[in-house]
Parts: sequence; structure tokens; C-alpha cells
Amino acid sequence: MLQKLWNPEIETLSREQVCALEAPLIADQIRYVYQHSPYYRDKYDLAGIDPATIDSHSALARLPFTEKSDIAQAQQQGELFGPNQCCDFDDIIRMTCTGGSTGEPTRLGWTRNDIDGYNEMGARAMWAMGCRPRDLVISCLNYSMYAGGIMDHGAFETLGAGILPYSIGNSERLLEMLSRFPPRAAGYSLFMTPSYAVRLADIAQQNGIDLHRLNVTRGYFSGEAGLQVPGYRDKIEQAWGMRAMDMYGTAELGVQSGECEHRNGHHYCGAGLVAAELVDPASGETLAFEDDSVGELVYTSLRREACPLIRLRSHDIVRIYTEPCACGRHSFRLHTLGRSDDMFIVKGVNVFPLAIQEALLKHRPEISAEFFVELTREPPIDYRPRLCIEVSPTLNSKGYSGLAQAIVSTLQQQCNFSATVEFVAQGSIATEHKTRRLYRAYLDQAAPALEVLYRQ
Ligand SMILES: [Zn+2]
Repeated sequence: MLQKLWNPEIETLSREQVCALEAPLIADQIRYVYQHSPYYRDKYDLAGIDPATIDSHSALARLPFTEKSDIAQAQQQGELFGPNQCCDFDDIIRMTCTGGSTGEPTRLGWTRNDIDGYNEMGARAMWAMGCRPRDLVISCLNYSMYAGGIMDHGAFETLGAGILPYSIGNSERLLEMLSRFPPRAAGYSLFMTPSYAVRLADIAQQNGIDLHRLNVTRGYFSGEAGLQVPGYRDKIEQAWGMRAMDMYGTAELGVQSGECEHRNGHHYCGAGLVAAELVDPASGETLAFEDDSVGELVYTSLRREACPLIRLRSHDIVRIYTEPCACGRHSFRLHTLGRSDDMFIVKGVNVFPLAIQEALLKHRPEISAEFFVELTREPPIDYRPRLCIEVSPTLNSKGYSGLAQAIVSTLQQQCNFSATVEFVAQGSIATEHKTRRLYRAYLDQAAPALEVLYRQ
């Protein structure tokens, strides 16, 4: 009989036991980065911290945070992996990229042991979601550079599932291929973003394909929030006749959490590999790891060799649950509430306000390139967000429509994202303070009420 948990020994540990297990690993990882990375050495020396005293979760909280932008900045100055690279290049066997805050990919190196750790975490999360060696998973995440494709592929293989690397695009061909697969007692499984499952269902309908005849019985979802939104999971499950399960992770550190059959939050699957802390996103103060606490997750790699990350801010705001789950896992569970920074995802594409700004600059002087985006409904964002832009007073209103069209196509080309453009008078958006670029109306962050001169 197949076991219920992927790694019962680890997944049944209490928080206290996890902290005890991880304490010596924290000490080892800190000693390692201090020896091999001038970036961490300088940082700790500057803060007057003796690395030999960092040997527990509570001691870890004394160290400064790492921001993704620190690493990105060093890469922009010409380093391949950045100042946290701790091993020789000869030991690095894989490179992946993650979306950076500027939209520029940030590079990350992995040794064989690093990849093994990623696969172990991923296998725990995938097993929690119900994936088993009987599964034949068609992976429709992006295999071009990013972790979701190639890295998670390895985790499915580690678990023992069969996997077809399909990647993104070619939706009609995918549906055609699925409809030619022979019936299979265990059915077929999809691995994709939730919004893509919805889009595929639309395409199937347009092409007269009955999804219920495709024998796709399970869906594993990643890459964006969505399945926790009431009604959205039902919509996907009904459209496909499948059971849809969700996981959550960060590209830098791996897939660390997956929901179990009870669907009461995502089980954290990183014990012994990545230490998790909860902090107040505004003050950075460490928060107690208690049931129902809300805060930002901060991660520390424990066994990474190529590019260790110490106290990396995830900017993911989560609610945690510490009560043991009926599935037998004692790991804490989490529910993602949103991101503290400004990235948002439209139809599976990461959109950054800075990248929009860059695209808008092309259309000066007809517009001032002062703008904001308003997201009216909660993710998944499968609609065209409202993009409000200041227009020059010298432009005749007869030119508004053509200009709006041109902006839409620039955004499509540069950011792979579609918006509904609105023009407002020059000077009404920008303030002398930091101008806000993103409003999430569904979180009670309504955009300022402005007189709209033109609406697409
Ligand atoms: Zn559970």
C-alpha cells in the first residue's frame, strides 16, 4: 500500500521539533555563507554580528534581511549570479531565472544537491495534493528559464509520476493531443496556472471540444493565486470534470507548500531545507508563530551550496494555521492573502508597474507617463485592468482614441499585457509624494476619483 505522506518522519514533526532539527543547519549555513560570500560577510561585519552566535531560529532574527533587489542590482553591475554565489562554477549544473522587481530576470545557480533539496520539497507538496506515481502529468508551465517548468518537472519525477513537458502556448494543439490520448484508468493530470485552465476551457468551447471526454481527472495548480477564491475552483473543476489542487512556492527557494485533501490551507513542506519565519511586513519585527497569525514569510535556505539566501523577504502576506491537520501532517499551514510589493499577474503574466512606466515613456509628449493601474476584482486577474494615464493638454481630443490604441499595442508588445486605457488631465495623478502606481480596489484600496477625459 502506498504511504499517506511523502516523508512521514519530517512531515509529522511539531514546530518545536522542526526548530530543533533546523538549529544546527542554521549554524552550518551561516558559517558557510560567511566563509564563501563577501556579500554576507560584509553585511554581518557591518552589523557587528558574530556568525558563530547564529545557531537557532531566534538568533536568526538578529540578522539583516536579504531583498531580491540586492541580488538583482549586483547582477546588473555585471555579476553572473551575484554576491551570494558561494561555490565554484564547476559545481553549478543548472541556472534558472526569476522575475525581478524591474521585470529583468534575476539569475540563480543550482548544484546537484541544491536541486535534490528542491525536488524533495516539491515531492512533499505534490504528494499532499494527491499526486502519485500512477499520475501522467502534462506540465503546461513555462520551461523557458523560469523555475515552474524545469524545476517542478524534476520534483514530479522525484515523486515517481510520469510527466510530459508541454510548456506554454499552442493551446489548440494541446487540446487536440489530449483528445487523441487513449482512455486510461488513472486518467490524466494537468499542471498549470489556474487562469490558463479557464482560458483553455474557453478555447475548447470555441472549438467544439467536450472537456469531460478528455479523461483529465486531476489538476495541480501553481504560479498564481486563484484556487482559494470562492467559486473559481468550482468553475475549473466543473469545466474539466477534474479535482483541482493548489500549491504555492517561491522560485528562489522551491515549492514549499501544497494543500492536502482537507483543503484547509497549504502545508509548509520545507522543514529541514528552508527555515520559515513570520515578520511584520512594515516593521520587520519577528512575529510569534501562532495559530491565525498574519504576517510576511521570510525564508532562509539551510543546505544550499550555489546561491544560499539568508532571511529572504518573500513579500507574501499569509495567515498561518498551526493546529495539526486530520491528514496527519503537523507542518504549519498557510493561506496567501496577497503580496506586499507591487507585482500583479494578468492571465499568467507577471506585470510590473515599472515596466508599464517604461512602455508609456515611448508615448511622450502626448502623455506625461504618469499613471496608475486599478485592479477592481480579486485575483486571478482574467480581465483587462484599468490603466489611467495623464494626457497632454496640447493634444486635441480627436486624437485620444488613436493614442489609446497605440498605447495598448505597446503594452502588449513590451509587457505582454492588455489594459483598458483611460485619460485624465495632466497633473491630476502625480503628487509630490511617492506616486502610487497600483490600487487594489478589492482590498479597499480604491483609486482616487478623477474626471475622466476619455475611456476606451
Ligand atoms: Zn492536511
